[in-house]
Amino acid sequence: MFRPRTINRLSSLPRGRRDLRPAISAMTPPSCRVNTLPCRRLHLAPPFLLEDYTPRYMTLSSVEAAKKRSSAYAHLRNCNLCPRLCGVNRYETTGMCLIGDKAKVNVIAPHFGEEPCIQGHHGSGSVFFSMCNLRCVFCQNHDISHQRNGMDLTPEELGDWFIKLQDVGNVHNINLITPEHVVPQVALAILHARDNGLTLPIVYNTSAYDSLASLELMDGLVDIYLPDFKVWEPATSRRLLKADDYAATARESIKHMHAQVGDLCFTGDGIAKKGLLVRHLVMPGYEAEGARIMRFLAAKVSKDCFVNIMEQYHPDAHVGKPKRRTKQSDAELSTGEGEQEKRYDEINRSVSQQEISAVRRAAEEAGLWRFCDPPKHDGFSL
Ligand code: SF4
Repeated sequence: MFRPRTINRLSSLPRGRRDLRPAISAMTPPSCRVNTLPCRRLHLAPPFLLEDYTPRYMTLSSVEAAKKRSSAYAHLRNCNLCPRLCGVNRYETTGMCLIGDKAKVNVIAPHFGEEPCIQGHHGSGSVFFSMCNLRCVFCQNHDISHQRNGMDLTPEELGDWFIKLQDVGNVHNINLITPEHVVPQVALAILHARDNGLTLPIVYNTSAYDSLASLELMDGLVDIYLPDFKVWEPATSRRLLKADDYAATARESIKHMHAQVGDLCFTGDGIAKKGLLVRHLVMPGYEAEGARIMRFLAAKVSKDCFVNIMEQYHPDAHVGKPKRRTKQSDAELSTGEGEQEKRYDEINRSVSQQEISAVRRAAEEAGLWRFCDPPKHDGFSL
């Protein structure tokens, strides 16, 4: 099993220099300290610093790889892979995600819209899958996730694209965007690519609506889990995501992701190589749910969890569109008495600075400290 190599700080000290212990201890994050000295506020320090890194799929034995392949094919024949539990044979028909045995891919390209530690200087090798197993009414990517546009790829063709991204794009990683409904195809593609020379870490960029079965299939194949934990209350997820069980599923998924890969770790060039990075898109009027999510991460996942509190929400997809017309509303409009109502009007605006600050404050009060903040200087920062 791969273990990150970290510097053994105390045992490497000469006897005469044991007076350095308090200073070194103060450089260590809370989860690694044995006393209560203040922690170091640096991401690029032990134990989050790796000397080098080998992707997890490269350490799988041929027997483990064969088991993953047969499990992937079995899931495709009876798909209960995501929490929708459709139970369909995807070689013959489709379930709620409307995708069969071939993954449908909208865009494959180096991408520069991710966190600096994911995109680096050369970009993240992004694969945008068409469709999704959620139906977020505000989807910020709805032209891809709500529409079946793109090219159908076999797992082998998809794996060949990973190699092209590596060899031609010179990207830092393979970034699988919204892969929850194509996990078997993705697992087969990674195994095909590894047999043909892929050496880049795999990023699993998800809405966190994953089943434990799919995370088990991805265990040993994924290096960085990048879940977006969206809302906390079942009533909110029912209305806005069309999934009652979203938050309960996301909580279990994120705990399992962390159990597989641990906290986010970097190599010395500032590029993330393994671990968990949780996103939360602050929603207008839902900052209290964002605060609950932060408290959950600190209490149940890790206080060293790397978090990106995102501010870029904008009304999209169904939000702000006119409500369906009825005979009564038509009559009111024709007499000038009524006003055309908007769908999901409560989130038909940007988020305020106060709402963003409330989530950030809750995160800090809960003990989280590793945030994806913009650099404090003018230059590019990893
Ligand atoms: S991946 Fe698609 S077919 Fe399978 S359970 Fe989920 S929605 Fe249904």
